[in-house]
Amino acid sequence: MISLVIPVYNEESLVDLLFERTIASLSTITEDFEIICVDDGSSDNTLSKLLSCYKKDKRFKVLVLSRNFGHQAAYTAGLTYAKGEYVAMMDGDLQDPPEVIKSMYEKLLNEDYDIVYGKRITRKEGIAKKTLIKIFHWLFKNFSNIDKADNVGNFSMMNNRALQALLSIGEKNRYLPGLRFFVGYNQGFVEYDRLERDSGEAKMSFNKLVKLAFDAIFSFSDLPIKFCLFTGVIGIIIFFSAGVYVLLDKFFGSALYGWSSTVLSIYFLGSVQLVFLGIIGEYVHRIYKEVQNRPLFIVREFVN
Ligand code: UDP
Ligand code: MG
Repeated sequence: MISLVIPVYNEESLVDLLFERTIASLSTITEDFEIICVDDGSSDNTLSKLLSCYKKDKRFKVLVLSRNFGHQAAYTAGLTYAKGEYVAMMDGDLQDPPEVIKSMYEKLLNEDYDIVYGKRITRKEGIAKKTLIKIFHWLFKNFSNIDKADNVGNFSMMNNRALQALLSIGEKNRYLPGLRFFVGYNQGFVEYDRLERDSGEAKMSFNKLVKLAFDAIFSFSDLPIKFCLFTGVIGIIIFFSAGVYVLLDKFFGSALYGWSSTVLSIYFLGSVQLVFLGIIGEYVHRIYKEVQNRPLFIVREFVN
């Protein structure tokens, strides 16, 4: 059996097409499948549309969260309920073509992989978003010790042992593509073109995307803490040189210590300290979240 997990949040305009295309493309693999649509606290007609799809085909199940928890939590919720031997993850906006799942499945079977993820060759998104995403992927690839993580997102399929490993990770600030690499086993990829979303606006707001990027960078790399160290070392070198100059001036020159240099160094030291405090604060915040140990999601009901 194959499970397909899809998070949806206020996507009423594309539920019907999503239903048709996922059913059609999974049917080309097997008739024994389930689609778990996770309604991530939608406030429009998404839920009622999902439920009428369920009435048409009982394999189209609906997992309703009690509020909007964000798409990483929604994916995790869906994965927790998935019963399939092979489980796929796909966004609900049809930017990732469901037809690619078949090639993922064939690759899993024929080439003995545990996880097959989609690698985007091209993407059709606004220039600003595309540039930011490029910068993020460059940072993540170069500083996360995951060199394969290049233009890879949630779109993927895995077998049950990889899924169980993924679900055993209790991390709260989740970046699933990173955690999926962390799981290990045999991982392969298929290439595909990321399309424009079929309809509606992107539901990952700018703030949500920034949070996701932060989760990825802070959870998978020591870049921020290295940045502290780097800035600190540069600062020390600058102030050591300045100190030498000040002493030489005191003993051999006409030492008249200027107001501007004093103020400038206070400003500089102050800002360096603020940067450090901010970064340390970020870690403390994350430790706090882990210690709180709140559930990642709360299910209202599972219609199946
Ligand atoms: N999504 C969700 N909860 C959210 C935000 C988004 O379940 O809080 C869903 C959304 O409906 C879509 C998928 O996650 O199916 C990806 O969202 P979006 O297309 O906005 O992300 P992007 O394409 O910008 O990565
Ligand atoms: Mg999208």
